Amino acid sequence: MSELLVSRSPQRPDEIVAEAKVVSPADVTALADQARAAQALWWRQGAATRAAALRAVADRLREHADELTDLVVREVGKPVGEARGEVARSIAILDYYAQSSFTPVGELLPPSLPASQAGLLYTERRPHGVAGLITPWNFPLAIPLWKAAPALAAGNAVLLKPSPDAIGCGQAVERLFTGLVPDGLVRVVPGGADTGRAVVEVGDVLSFTGSAAVGRQVAVAATGRGIAVQAEMGGQNAAIVLPDADIEQTAVMLAGAAMGYAGQKCTATRRVIVVGDADRFTEALVAAVRSMNVGDPADPAVTIGPVINAAARSRVRDAVETARTAGGRILTPAGGRIPADGSGRSEGYHVGPVVVDRIDPTHPLAQEETFGPFALVLRAPDAATAVELANGVPYGLVTSVHGRDIGELLHVARGVDTGLVRVNAPSTGVDFYAPFGGEKASSIGPREQGLTALDFYTSTRTITLAA
Ligand code: NAD
Repeated sequence: MSELLVSRSPQRPDEIVAEAKVVSPADVTALADQARAAQALWWRQGAATRAAALRAVADRLREHADELTDLVVREVGKPVGEARGEVARSIAILDYYAQSSFTPVGELLPPSLPASQAGLLYTERRPHGVAGLITPWNFPLAIPLWKAAPALAAGNAVLLKPSPDAIGCGQAVERLFTGLVPDGLVRVVPGGADTGRAVVEVGDVLSFTGSAAVGRQVAVAATGRGIAVQAEMGGQNAAIVLPDADIEQTAVMLAGAAMGYAGQKCTATRRVIVVGDADRFTEALVAAVRSMNVGDPADPAVTIGPVINAAARSRVRDAVETARTAGGRILTPAGGRIPADGSGRSEGYHVGPVVVDRIDPTHPLAQEETFGPFALVLRAPDAATAVELANGVPYGLVTSVHGRDIGELLHVARGVDTGLVRVNAPSTGVDFYAPFGGEKASSIGPREQGLTALDFYTSTRTITLAA
């Protein structure tokens, strides 16, 4: 008998949000065969049909926007304003890739044959077949859709393995496509690591988002099979605050970037590197964090909800203890407005928000990702040292830079080694039509989103015709 997966609300852990049977590796293989048959039909139908279907999926999501916003809030504890934003962005992603079905798929090149032989030399991009997609829980609609939509627009089928913490959203993604695309073309396969590994074994192309440890395993397995793979993973993202930055405005921006959605974004600011008067900036940052509302994510005033599960809460609590032992100063009392032990005022998995000062930049806490509302303040005597500190971690996803002098901002922006750089903007924004991804341990393979995504989900065939 197959095992049952249950996802629970992080705000009310007694509440079951969704249930699904674990899809076994053998069933993943069978579904991949069905998907492959559906893909042949989907590809033959042509670009206009694919575009119309993706537009219809966007329309269906528009119709069910409130319901899906509510599901995201309940299943992963995302504050309702951000959950609404995620649904709106998912609609925009589907609209964008519907249109991108018409993107040119090749080039005509001058033939090398003598003019006496009317020759043709051209390229065309063709879908790989079945795209295996493995996704985390933190953007439970947007990430599956920003992978699935370009894969489908380019003519592939999709096997999506959602996180066990977001199976309800995964099922909702499958329902969005049901009846609007050929049967079996988009299949969601709930499960854990075994199901994920099976997806890696059957996919013709593989896109993963999640932790660095898992991403590396997935990339090794996919590369071993000789299929194209991309893995988007974590970050230890720095915000560099230059001496001429507007203190109040930057502090509010960085508080949101570090603690919004309880710091559970791959792009969240984790290290605030202050050049200049660090005490003054730290005070403003702590005040801004304390003014954020912690509580039930369904309350529109709340910007920091619970973390995803009990294990995630323990990891943040452990990080606070490690910081204390390492001589760090805990500047927002552990637990913020809600006691760190979760007792008394909240039944959900609340913890923090926590800002820690005076941790050595080489300490593991400053090197590895703590996926929660936990940020460090580091101090730098000048901009060059700030860049060195920002770069001195294994990851390279995003850096934000804050100040007024445009020359200095650009100089610093060019010096950091992350895939994304945000100047006077929070580290957490994503433009879904622009290449997205990191350097070093944050990413493997080509960028996601925009036209680079269409490249990734296709392979080039070069055709020479001698007539
Ligand atoms: P995770 O690595 O635990 O899980 C990600 C997915 O991989 C899940 O679906 C999981 O079931 C699956 N999985 C687990 N073991 C597997 C295996 N051995 N083989 C195949 N699949 C396997 O990550 P998570 O906790 O769901 O998400 C949080 C992480 O995701 C953070 O590190 C965060 O930084 C990262 N993230 C990165 C981005 C980005 O674009 N860079 C975006 C969002 C989240």
